[in-house]
Amino acid sequence: MLQAKLKSGKLITLFQYSKEEIETLRENQQFFCPTCHNKVIIRAGSKTIAHFAHLSITNCQANEGGEGAYHEKGKLLLFRWLKEQGLTVSLEEYIPSIKQRPDIFIRIKAKKIAVEYQCARISAVDIKSRTKGYLSEGIQPIWILGGNLFQRTGRNQVKTDHFILQFLHQYRHDILPVLYFFDSQTNNFLTVSNMYQIRKNQMFGSFAIKKLKHMRFINLFKTTPIQPNILITEWKKAKYKFRIHQPKRTDGKEKLWYHWLYSKGTHREHLPSIIYLPVPSQFGMKTPQWDWQSRICLEIIDPLPLNGVFTISACRYQLQQSISNESLPLIRSSGDPILEYLQILCTLNIIKQLSKNQFVKEKVLIHYTHIEDALAGDNKIMDELSKFFQDKIRA
Ligand SMILES: [Zn+2]
Repeated sequence: MLQAKLKSGKLITLFQYSKEEIETLRENQQFFCPTCHNKVIIRAGSKTIAHFAHLSITNCQANEGGEGAYHEKGKLLLFRWLKEQGLTVSLEEYIPSIKQRPDIFIRIKAKKIAVEYQCARISAVDIKSRTKGYLSEGIQPIWILGGNLFQRTGRNQVKTDHFILQFLHQYRHDILPVLYFFDSQTNNFLTVSNMYQIRKNQMFGSFAIKKLKHMRFINLFKTTPIQPNILITEWKKAKYKFRIHQPKRTDGKEKLWYHWLYSKGTHREHLPSIIYLPVPSQFGMKTPQWDWQSRICLEIIDPLPLNGVFTISACRYQLQQSISNESLPLIRSSGDPILEYLQILCTLNIIKQLSKNQFVKEKVLIHYTHIEDALAGDNKIMDELSKFFQDKIRA
């Protein structure tokens, strides 16, 4: 925390004081956490930002951003950065109606924005409830993650486990989600935009790294367009990995899928190339793309004769077990991954949409017998989709 209360109830904001003044304060005063009222002490050193820390470990909400110098420094840097842009900002302001204290609170005319700098892993449930608290008050939360939570898994890939997923921001339903990271040590601000889930716990996106001083607040809402050819290349790689992947051990759900494939008389290497395609709302599904997409293809489309009709409701019924009923707090769209997939199949002329609920089969699905043909087919499908993604991805 950058602020604490004196016995008198007066609020002290440390960074406003000089080193000598801080020393005098330290010797003559007692400090209390404004949130839990427990005793806090000053932590100051030549290299750390002066801040308050709880004397003993508590489950105080003020700790949840991550106590300690890294978090406090970043919070202060972000606060100053916003203030320098002429914005009306306050630090650690208490919002009584929801009993929450965002790191930074911004008021722009009637708009209210809570900026949280999150450097500690706390439970996803807590993040959810705090996000919902802000939204219930008409406050837009913006969660900026500490650089310590950033894990790169590829050139354009970031690890997104269940905790990180809670911080995906989506401001408009037709724009892909974005994640923010700030490293208070290097002053680097990283925006990962146009994000697609590529496999479990991994998302693909366009990376933009800037020094904080070269950024404006408004930049947070402008995404970097991704080159469709990069997206296509990454997906070709992902599909290749999927084809040649030899699982050493399979967990429960994966095992079920392999059993099901076996019961269908096929194998991962022989599956049609239209299985495992990118859909923007994949985070609405509990199972990986290849799992639920193969079930639509093999259970519903494949058995139909040409010109046979099926419904999206039948697909939904088939995938009951795969549809997640957990929502992500900052994802605005009610994006439907199943519909998105069927629409991709429409662009590939495999099926055609007849009405809101009905689709007709237009092409026979190609099953492979040789892995080489499958790999070539996968690349061909992704090339065909290149134009489709060009239209989808925007700045
Ligand atoms: Zn406290």
